[in-house]
Amino acid sequence: MQTETYRQLDRDHHLHPFTDFKALGEEGSRIVTHAEGIYIHDSEGNRILDAMAGLWCVNLGYGRQELVEAATAQLHELPYYNNFFKSTHPPAVKLAEALCRLAPAHMNRVFFTGSGSEANDTMLRMVRRYWALEGKPDKQWVIARENAYHGSTVAGMSLGGMAPMHAQGGPTVPRITHVRQPYWFGEGRPAGQDPETFGRDCAAALEAKIQELGEENVAAFIAEPVQGAGGAIIPPESYWPAVKEVLARYDILLVVDEVICGFGRLGEWFGSVHYDLEPDLMPIAKGLSSGYLPIGGVLVGDRVAETLIERGGEFFHGFTYSGHPVCAAVALQNLELMQAEGIVERVRDDVGPYLAERWATLADHPMVGEARSLGLIGALELVDPATGERFPKPLGAGTLCRDICLDLGLVMRSVGDTMIISPPLIITRAEIDELVSLAGEALDETARRLAA
Ligand code: PLP
Repeated sequence: MQTETYRQLDRDHHLHPFTDFKALGEEGSRIVTHAEGIYIHDSEGNRILDAMAGLWCVNLGYGRQELVEAATAQLHELPYYNNFFKSTHPPAVKLAEALCRLAPAHMNRVFFTGSGSEANDTMLRMVRRYWALEGKPDKQWVIARENAYHGSTVAGMSLGGMAPMHAQGGPTVPRITHVRQPYWFGEGRPAGQDPETFGRDCAAALEAKIQELGEENVAAFIAEPVQGAGGAIIPPESYWPAVKEVLARYDILLVVDEVICGFGRLGEWFGSVHYDLEPDLMPIAKGLSSGYLPIGGVLVGDRVAETLIERGGEFFHGFTYSGHPVCAAVALQNLELMQAEGIVERVRDDVGPYLAERWATLADHPMVGEARSLGLIGALELVDPATGERFPKPLGAGTLCRDICLDLGLVMRSVGDTMIISPPLIITRAEIDELVSLAGEALDETARRLAA
């Protein structure tokens, strides 16, 4: 089929996630046809460096035959069976064991889901059930952060702090509230605060919220180690230690959403390890299977697991595809490849520091107010070269830069005027050089067009 035929069928029948339906109808889609390594190809012959690893998930890169073979073998062996009631199957069991071996020592149980959103829904039900079983049914409030993304189901959207999603979604799940995010460039810097004071202030805002709600009513605090979709927000060094201090003063569960930061993105198996956190629950997805098949889950710490098991009885919750055998087999093979190839250590000791060094050079560009990265996640804050301050929003500098990137053969994501990268973890030093060079060209062209 020709590109235009695909485009027309797409316009006629396909509602895309997170897309202005009308604008897409006018402009038409890019038809991505195949991919290898860190590059995707479209139907018009373009080869594009995918610096977003799809949606922050294709950690082992495209075209890994071992993952294809794991899926094929499992499809032949047992294409589907469920884990409901008292059944299970080898891929789910083996994956559960492998995950708990890689997770922090106090996390020894996992509940499988089909996605990160389902993982957060599951987590929310577990948290509230935990406190009910503990004889504290009033502990229902969950504190999340403004501008966070935790998924698109009703609970995921409610936990998320994205105002446009709340505005479109109708009533949210009750007893979820949000506190400020540790976004120094966007919120601390304009207020004239240094990053470390700002980080401590954000932790203080969490404590104030706990006190306002009453400790006896607060069930959990949920956050990502580095906030991904909100803008690759790497918190100031002071933030997590101060949050840990706050949480230690109150009996509140810590939920660390590892959907993006898990599986090597920050140079550890989990972002929690990088920040020395001891989560009670960790929603996971994405990099678990390198995005090859949909699978997620919630890793559960001993404290919560023991109560759910010993006092719980039946947990009326689960998905047809919880621990799907083919998805689980691919996830297991993915984890085995990551271990065999030392992918996590490579991010921590080699390509992560190399990206940090090369990415930092972009801070010299007049359009860049801040260039930050940690492991293989990074962001550029676009500013007006004339003033060094952020552009007025309606100018759409980020969207313009994103589109220019694509024309030059680079996928970067824009969140407002923040440009984000989260490339496959197999990226080489030479490919990092190419990425940084293309980003530099895109910045030049964006500046030229904005000045015109
Ligand atoms: N949590 C975080 C931190 C995410 O970034 C995402 C997706 O981007 C989700 C949850 C939802 O995952 P899914 O899209 O698999 O439902």
